[in-house]
Amino acid sequence: MYPLPMDQLSVSAVYPTQKHTYVHFIQVHNGLPVLTGRVMVKLDLQGRVIAFGLDAYASIGISLNPAQGDAAAIASASAGLTNIGSVVVSPQLRVLPVPLYRGVEHHLVRVVEVATTENGTPARWECWVDANTGQLLYRQNRVMHHAPPASAGAEITGSSTVFTQNPFIPATLEPLANLRVVVNGVAQYLDPSGYLNTGLGGPISATFFLDGRWSRVETNGSTPSFVTTLQEGPNAISFDSGSNTRELSAYHHVNVIHEHVNTWLPTFVGMDFSLLTNVDVAGTCNAFYDGGSINFYEEGGGCQSYAQVAEVVYHEYGHAINDKFYGILSSDFTNGAMNEGYADLWAFTITQDPILADGSSCSTPTTTSGDMTRIRKSIPPTSWARCMPMARSSQVLGGTPTCSSGAISTSR
Ligand SMILES: [Zn+2]
Repeated sequence: MYPLPMDQLSVSAVYPTQKHTYVHFIQVHNGLPVLTGRVMVKLDLQGRVIAFGLDAYASIGISLNPAQGDAAAIASASAGLTNIGSVVVSPQLRVLPVPLYRGVEHHLVRVVEVATTENGTPARWECWVDANTGQLLYRQNRVMHHAPPASAGAEITGSSTVFTQNPFIPATLEPLANLRVVVNGVAQYLDPSGYLNTGLGGPISATFFLDGRWSRVETNGSTPSFVTTLQEGPNAISFDSGSNTRELSAYHHVNVIHEHVNTWLPTFVGMDFSLLTNVDVAGTCNAFYDGGSINFYEEGGGCQSYAQVAEVVYHEYGHAINDKFYGILSSDFTNGAMNEGYADLWAFTITQDPILADGSSCSTPTTTSGDMTRIRKSIPPTSWARCMPMARSSQVLGGTPTCSSGAISTSR
């Protein structure tokens, strides 16, 4: 079930209790201990496995011959430390797994211990230095203090007000998932829950961009951004005054569909890039994918800004998935109707609803009941004309809607 490197596991401890026995293993690769590599198995009194924890690493494919010697490791480990006393390099090299997005990279490291004194307080820094590049990968003081914690850095919790479905459903505050922020000239990203610890002490200036790991939003070629000052500790950041609901909703929807793709195609990386997401494109009642970007027309002609209609964003993003997914399979989608159907499928599997793009009309919040056979029924007459010529004949609704009324606030 799991590709465990069984031949590299070695028992490090056995802890019997009245009800359970805990067996701990460490990982040793070609004689080198793997830092953080460990396995725990919990057994009941009959010796049956009832729980386990795995932090073992299969296929560690690194050279075991270091390119640099002790001197480089000492220089790197000592950088930035003062009042240095003793420095000890462990003769035992180790392997350090470093998690990456969708994987792990392994480093051959030297462990260096640097003893210092700071303001009369002793410190013993355990340093993990890359034995090939000399880069300091990790450093921790092994002397524990009961003094107040030092500066922990400016933390960000980002959110914005978006229409999670369409403008007929009240907007809600949602996390700014995977958003880019530049602090001290270096780009960092909020995590999928909208959180980031910058690791930099506040107060410090930060520039936020509506441009994250999976979507780069533009209106007229410009990406919304704003500058603010982060304080030390938690900072609640809203993008609402630096952008508008069309831009923010489109950004949100792309993050939702990207997460959805990852869930269903976990090994597919073809959409792992920041897709240009154009909002308020001149024109009305349409949206399109052009092979390099997804595009949403501005409000008008009885239609909402389609950037604010979740399923339209999912559908256009679905075209991009079709493009990249079948491209990776060395094929393409020459059948336009099937391409449309597959794009719809990506939207339906999020909403679990066969009606596509309810609320895309300015006047018709939901599809009238009784006809569930025609998907897209709620879409105004001209919708999808370019996108879905096969379905055009079924797109007739009455009335001449307008978007200027009521609680729908779309102004910037
Ligand atoms: Zn389409």
